[in-house]
Amino acid sequence: MERLQKVIARAGIASRRKAEQLITDGKVKVNGEVVRTLGVKVSEEDKIEVNGIPLEREEPVYYLLYKPRGVISSVSDDKGRKTVVDLILENDKRIFPVGRLDYDTSGLLLLTNDGEWANLLMHPRYQIEKTYIAKVKGIPSRAALRDLERGVILEDGPTAPAKAKLVSGNREKNTAIVELTIHEGRNRQVKRMFEKIGHPVVKLKRERFAFLTLDGLNAGDYRPLTPHEVKKLR
Ligand code: URA
Repeated sequence: MERLQKVIARAGIASRRKAEQLITDGKVKVNGEVVRTLGVKVSEEDKIEVNGIPLEREEPVYYLLYKPRGVISSVSDDKGRKTVVDLILENDKRIFPVGRLDYDTSGLLLLTNDGEWANLLMHPRYQIEKTYIAKVKGIPSRAALRDLERGVILEDGPTAPAKAKLVSGNREKNTAIVELTIHEGRNRQVKRMFEKIGHPVVKLKRERFAFLTLDGLNAGDYRPLTPHEVKKLR
């Protein structure tokens, strides 16, 4: 048995708080009866309707994908490009990516059909560490890396403190490899941060998300998360 608001949130149609609101507003029925009180528990067999629409309940699934470049981080694409969901082969569930990586970015991406879990991970309050390996134009100075660490001003506001480490520099090719760890997840954030310090990104890969890494996987590979990993991320 699970709480009604949790089951609704997991189906991905509302956050937990919004699900509670739907219940108190009388928009939710269990087995044909309106339920307005919070804390009611439901089982697998109970039929739930939200705004008159039956709630589709699926077994929650969780995957870690090594996203290759040239794949779009969405469920479908109107231009017919391959999506990250297309890469998860044995799956018949309505999964979606937790956040996104750009079309030309590779690396660690989580996918699930658990809307509540996905919302938690993407919530800024959770401050999940993500580590990126960027190949950039030029070789950033120590001062430039310090700027990245302290925060740079982007058009949507200053970035939070980050960690930046020069992994290597190639004077002949005039490129460098930099490891950047951030806690935020704004659109194109890493690329915009490097643009800001005058070292545009040539290639980008996310190699860590919280304690998860790409160990043992090649681009395009995926694996289910273990129940322990799912719980630890919560
Ligand atoms: N930051 C970016 O600029 N691109 C990504 O894909 C992820 C983070």
